[in-house]
Parts: sequence; C-alpha cells; structure tokens
Amino acid sequence: MKFDIITIFPKIFDSYFDESILARARKNKLIKIKIHNLRDYTKNKRRTIDDTPYGGGAGMILMIEPIYKALVKIVGKNNLKCFRKRIKNQESRIKNNFNNKTKIVLLSAKGKKFDQAMARKFSKLDKLILICGRYEGVDERVAKYLCDEEISIGDYVLTGGELPAMVMVDAITRLIPGVLGSAESLKEESFSTNRKKEKESRVLEYPQYTRPENFSPDKKTKWRVPKVLLSGNHKLVREWKEKKSK
Ligand code: SAM
Repeated sequence: MKFDIITIFPKIFDSYFDESILARARKNKLIKIKIHNLRDYTKNKRRTIDDTPYGGGAGMILMIEPIYKALVKIVGKNNLKCFRKRIKNQESRIKNNFNNKTKIVLLSAKGKKFDQAMARKFSKLDKLILICGRYEGVDERVAKYLCDEEISIGDYVLTGGELPAMVMVDAITRLIPGVLGSAESLKEESFSTNRKKEKESRVLEYPQYTRPENFSPDKKTKWRVPKVLLSGNHKLVREWKEKKSK
C-alpha cells in the first residue's frame, strides 16, 4: 500500500516513520510513504500556499491551487472526484487509470470520525492520499471537488493535519498482512472483529500483565498478577480473558 502525504511541514514525519514497526514495514516493502511538500506546487517566488479568508475572519487559509496541482501529479486529473464522475463507461475508466482502490482524504476537525472499522477498510486500498491542513484550515473547494472523504481523529482542534495523518498511517499499517510479527496480535486486541462476544466491534481488550508476579513499590505493598494467569490452565485463562474483555 502506498501513502502520499501532502503537507507544508514535511520534516515532521521523519522520526516517527523511521522507527519500529513502520520502519520495518517500509523496509520490507509492505508500505511506501511519500511526503509531498505543498510549496513545491506553488508558482510564485515566495512559494505562497495560503491567503486571507474571503468575507473576513482570523488567520490564513490553504489555497486550492497548489493542492490541486499536487493531486494531479500524484493521481492524475481524471482520478479526482470532480472529474472521475464525468468518466462514465468502464473502458474509458480503465484507459484513464481509474482505480477505486485509491482514496483522497482531507484531514479536518469537522470530518467523519476515524475509527478501527475505517482503518480496516482503508487497509485494503492500494493508495491513500492524505492532505494536511494548517492555520485556519483549507479552502472548502478542496473537500467539495477534490477529496473522497474528510476525516477527523477526534473532537478537538490540532494545529495541523500532520499528527492525524500519522495516526491514520499507523493504525492502517498495522492491519496490513505481514506488518505485525504475529497475526494473533490483531485477533485479540481492542476493537477487533473476530471475538466471540463481539457483534459491533466495541469490545476492549482484557488487562495484560508481565513479570514480575509481585511488584512491591514499598515494604507494605504487593501488587500481584491475577492468580489464574499463572495457573497454566488454558480453559480458565480463556474464560478469565473473555470475562475481563469489556
Ligand atoms: N478552523 C478549523 C476549525 O475550526 O475546524 C481548524 C483548523 S486547524 C487549526 C488546522 C488544520 O489541522 C485543519 O485544517 C486540519 O487539517 C487539522 N486538524 C485539526 N484538528 C484536527 C482533527 N481533530 N482531526 C483531523 N485534522 C485536524
């Protein structure tokens, strides 16, 4: 799967994407991440990407033109939402390289809330393009004409779409087959779909413990691991885990 991220702060992504599971997934070619500097798609010397809002108001708005140019470069004009609709028959879709395994997403506090079900859906794509807003936001025509979806990572306002983009890449990548060392990790975790109790994907994982069996922060106190987990009785352990899953 390929992620293309459009941002005005490309360096933000370096350290997170170069560590641990994401770095390994990139090394093993299970994912590709390309960061696009929005300023590379400007036409004036000052590489301007924003302007004041029409109708007045505080702050600056990211302009549509550089975002449009970046998207045309990444997916081609005919794969943008507004032009895609015009391509009616299948033959011309194929000719125009239309691919419904590609999605263009604008990160936005007012978007649809990102969750595990969405991460699962996106993990089946070939290509996901994430547009990071900044300042007061992004010209509304980007959402209206160019993007498939507007997505929020929660009901709070961040300074930019870069953290939300990293959150999405992380949650989606770990669902791609081969990325996690053990596929078992996905089966029993919070929000997974294949647990006995679960119909609607809101089950939260049981508590987990590791060594030592007893932890004493001072002489009078002992914090113990539940006995059943040390019993070696698989049936009892399984029942305990099911009972403790919320
Ligand atoms: N004026 C906007 C509003 O009231 O919704 C907030 C703009 S915010 C300061 C700048 C950018 O950060 C947004 O364009 C968006 O890309 C990103 N952003 C902020 N909060 C977000 C969230 N909860 N989820 C996704 N993106 C967010």
